[in-house]
This record gives sequence, structure tokens and C-alpha cells, in this order.
Amino acid sequence: MKAEIIAVGTEILLGQIVNTNASFLARQLALLGIDAEQQQVVGDNGERLDAALTLAEGRADLVILIGGLGPTADDITKQVLAQHIGKPLVTNFQAIEKLLAFAQQRQTPLTANDRVQAALPFDAQPLANRVGLAVGAISETPKATYVLLPGPPREFTVMVEEQLTPYLLTHRGEQQVLKSKVLRFYGIGESLLTTDLADLIDAQSEPTIASYIKEHEVTLRLTAKAADDAAAEALIAPIEQEILAREGQYFYGYGDDNSLAQELANALANAHLTITAAESLTAGAFQAALADIPGISTWFKGGFVTYSNHTKATLLGLDEATIDRDGAVSEATALAMAEAAREKVDADLAVSMTGVAGPGPDDGVDAGTVWIGLAKRGEKSQATLYHFPGARNDVRDRAVKAAMFAALR
Ligand code: ATP
Ligand code: MG
Repeated sequence: MKAEIIAVGTEILLGQIVNTNASFLARQLALLGIDAEQQQVVGDNGERLDAALTLAEGRADLVILIGGLGPTADDITKQVLAQHIGKPLVTNFQAIEKLLAFAQQRQTPLTANDRVQAALPFDAQPLANRVGLAVGAISETPKATYVLLPGPPREFTVMVEEQLTPYLLTHRGEQQVLKSKVLRFYGIGESLLTTDLADLIDAQSEPTIASYIKEHEVTLRLTAKAADDAAAEALIAPIEQEILAREGQYFYGYGDDNSLAQELANALANAHLTITAAESLTAGAFQAALADIPGISTWFKGGFVTYSNHTKATLLGLDEATIDRDGAVSEATALAMAEAAREKVDADLAVSMTGVAGPGPDDGVDAGTVWIGLAKRGEKSQATLYHFPGARNDVRDRAVKAAMFAALR
């Protein structure tokens, strides 16, 4: 079964409201394994809506219309559909009863406009509206099945969940599941990653491979359609393994919502390791991000914000003259900061961030230049130099993420 969503409303076209209904429904269709390859948005205009219906029924078996079921003059969806499929609008008994009761309660007369809300294309199946007054409908014709849903999101979502979904469960035909696996990478750009994987991406079918950038990280979504979850996973597994074999050094975790901070917190908890940080340009952003994770207090006891050379000396015990000699943004200072922080807190590992956030150079060091230090108990400390692109806050955010990635390794 192939579905197409048509959202009706000039205010959507004008960008005054966001088409959240279509997004909600698209997710629901995906969960049901129903293909929805195209969507349309049309204004409150009969001719264009009629043309949209013609287009949709030419490529889909299920055409779902959202919005324009109300009583006002711009609510034309139902009328246009009835005309389009050549069926008269007839009053639905239960819906008119409900409208009458509503009017009686408010002691207002029922206008002709109001009555339209209770009308359905002839022989359509009504979709009751538990939340509002406009009744929805499913109209099956030889050409396609049409669904009418109300625009107000509260009414819309309830109707989708309680009325449309049960219908689709019994009418979706051969059942397939759509399964996605999300792989997250740090430290490699999207174009480089997709170039490395070009042969896999070019040959993709099941699973499909989609890349996108989210907050300075690259994410790959592998999606497969199959008879059941296990079959879909079996399609994804070999491609996932091949990707990890090539790009494992940049891979850090699974899932759309899993942040680097969450991954780091999980890794610390699994290994029973405590962490601390000494931050210069990020001024505590690393520690704040870590503190967002519930339960982190077992593994993070506290750390240091040492913005100036002076506080690097007073709080961490570094020698100011040595910092002056090596430079605040240097491998030596990054190493000294990480080691001092680790020892002072007696943590298992410590990261340090020192660099120039910008805009513009500082002390002859270019904006975006950042040293990340890593000190581990019983191991030799390391520091890595980065040249981050972007504005001041991009550089600071990238520094935090690079430090998290370093701590994860
Ligand atoms: P009403 O009885 O309120 O007129 P309706 O079924 O005629 O309901 P519309 O007039 O199209 O629906 O939309 C009513 C309101 O619902 C819009 O002003 C908007 O706030 C919201 N809405 C409509 N369509 C969408 C959509 N696709 N996504 C999100 N919100 C929507
Ligand atoms: Mg309306």
C-alpha cells in the first residue's frame, strides 16, 4: 500500500504554521510499514486541491487529506473531494446529533455552515471526533481510498491514533516493517565520510544509507524494509559491519538521541572510572554537558575553569612563568592542565581544553586553534592539536565534543 498526504491550508503554505500534522502522520505510516513517497501542501483553493487529488491518486492507493473540515468558508476539503469522486455529501446521523446537542447546550442555533461539519461523501465510513465537532471520513473508491482528517492537531492526533490506525492495520496489505539503525561519528566531516563510503552509498537498496549533520557530528541512518524486525536487522548488519570496519575510528555510538555526553557517561559507568576536566576556552561547558546526564555524580566529582594564566596557576598549581614561556595554547600547557586536574581531584582520567575561540587571533594564535589534553591514571598523557572552523561558539562546542571523544577512546 502506498500513501500520500495532502495538507490543506493557506497558512501552511505561507509558513505561518508548521506542518506538524503531516510529520506526525508520516511517522505513524512508517511505523505501520506503509510507503509514503510524496507529500503535498495546497492552499484553500478548490481548483488546486482538485489538481492535487488527481496527482496523488495517480501514484498512491491511499490519499490522506488534512485540514479544512470546519464550518467556515475557507474549509473546502470535503466539498472538493466529494465533487472530485462524484459522490454527494450526505449528513451523518451521529455527527448531526452531536452538533445539535452542542448547539442546545450553548443555546445557539445550528447554522447551515455548522451542518456541513456533519456531512460526509456518500457511503464514506465516518471517523468519530472525540475532541471536536468536525467528523472525519474514509471513502473507498475503485481509484483510491481517501481519508479526511481535521486540522486542529489535538483532534487530528486522536483521530489518527484511535480511528485511522486501526483501519490501516487491517487494510495495509502485505505487512512489512521499516527498521532504522543510526550510527554516530565524530571527527570526520560529512563529505569525507560519504566519499569514503561512496561505493556502498551508490549501491544502496536495502538498507538505504542516509547521512546528515547534527551539531558538528555526522550521523548515518541505515534503513531496511523486510517482513519482520529480524529480517530487517539481517539486511542492515553486513553493511553496518563494513562501515564500522572502514570508519570505526570515528564511530562513537548508536541512536538518534544519544549524545556524546551520554555515551561518555555510559562508558565511565561501565568501566567504573571517574573523570574531571580543566577548561580554558570552554569555561565549564564540558562539565555542564556532562552534568546534564542523570547519575553522573558517581563518576564526575568536579573540575576546574581556568580561563586566565593566573587561574591556571592558582587553581591548578601550574607555573605562570612556564605557561608564558610555552604559551597558554600549547601542547605543554594542555598536558600540564590535564595532569594537574587529575591529580588534584584524584580522578581516573582528566581532559583539558585550551585554545582560541575567536573571533580573531589571540597572542598571535589563530582563532580555532585548540589543544585537547588527556591524562589517565597510570598512563602517559597525550594532547592533540585541532584547528576548528566556525564562529566563537562553534569552536567552543567543537572543543567540548573533541574532549568527550578523546575521553571515550
Ligand atoms: P476547524 O474546525 O478548526 O476549522 P479544520 O479541520 O477546518 O478545523 P483547518 O481550518 O485546516 O482545520 O485548520 C485549523 C487549525 O488547525 C489551523 O489554524 C492550525 O492551527 C491547525 N492545523 C491545520 N492543519 C495543520 C497541519 N497540517 N499541521 C499542524 N497544524 C495544522
Ligand atoms: Mg477550518
